[in-house]
Amino acid sequence: MQRIVIVCLLLLGQGFFMDSQAWVERNVLHIDLPQTIVLGEPFFLGMRSPVHFKKVRIDWLDTGMSVPLKFKNQAYAAHVLLGTDVKRHTPGMKTVRVQAEKYGITRVQERVIRVRDRQAPVQNLTVSKDKVALSQAALDRHQREQQAVRKVLSRISPGKMWSCPFQRPAAGDISSAYGLKRVLNGKPRSPHRGLDIRSGDQAPVTAANAGLVVLTADHFFAGKSVYIDHGQGVISMYFHLSSIAVQTGQHLAKGEFLGRTGSTGRATGPHLHFGISLGRALVNPEPLLGDACPRGF
Ligand SMILES: [Zn+2]
Repeated sequence: MQRIVIVCLLLLGQGFFMDSQAWVERNVLHIDLPQTIVLGEPFFLGMRSPVHFKKVRIDWLDTGMSVPLKFKNQAYAAHVLLGTDVKRHTPGMKTVRVQAEKYGITRVQERVIRVRDRQAPVQNLTVSKDKVALSQAALDRHQREQQAVRKVLSRISPGKMWSCPFQRPAAGDISSAYGLKRVLNGKPRSPHRGLDIRSGDQAPVTAANAGLVVLTADHFFAGKSVYIDHGQGVISMYFHLSSIAVQTGQHLAKGEFLGRTGSTGRATGPHLHFGISLGRALVNPEPLLGDACPRGF
């Protein structure tokens, strides 16, 4: 009798164990991430689960955001865009933390990504000293403008308005790539954190993705500029415009006209500077314009 009870308990125990394993398997949030990235390159964090998680929080570098999972292809899934900034971040091992809550239980998963250094060409420029030196008034103005820009780039709107791929905002070759190291009169300046598109003057500029216009301005360095919030920390920016055709608060479709190219602000000639910020990290926009940003993401 005692032996039968023990066997029954053992069987029950095993059954319970298998059930809990199955429960864990059903309730797991699968994470898809690259193991290695290059400093400044954007990347995707994919999440997929057979069950619905009410709340998923992602923490990466100095940014955190909550992301809703959407039912698609028989699973709950989401793709989030993350990145590093060639100026603000350094190579090394970095941790992505994903917190998923279900039935009041929070499960935390951490993944380590190796960020490799970026190899970028150096551009030496020599200009007359009076063009480099800024007056105190100009410096004060630049600082005020930077505060406004930081506020805009810190936005993490919960809804995703962007979709892959991003659309090239103007026609023309790329004259300065992302990451280019500029040395002005022998002194290293901030690396270039966007794409310069050789578009000529007065060429139409269009929204790289659907979103909300969150800032239009005329800044000391960027000149006439437009900032669009695409949701989940993705913001695009368009600098040195000759004219702006949109207003703050306006919703734009992907490819919608927003202004014309020019050389306002500190530009050496007419071109479009196009930038993308992911959670305040100014990344290389180029991969997002092609196959690296697959349809369906
Ligand atoms: Zn530029």
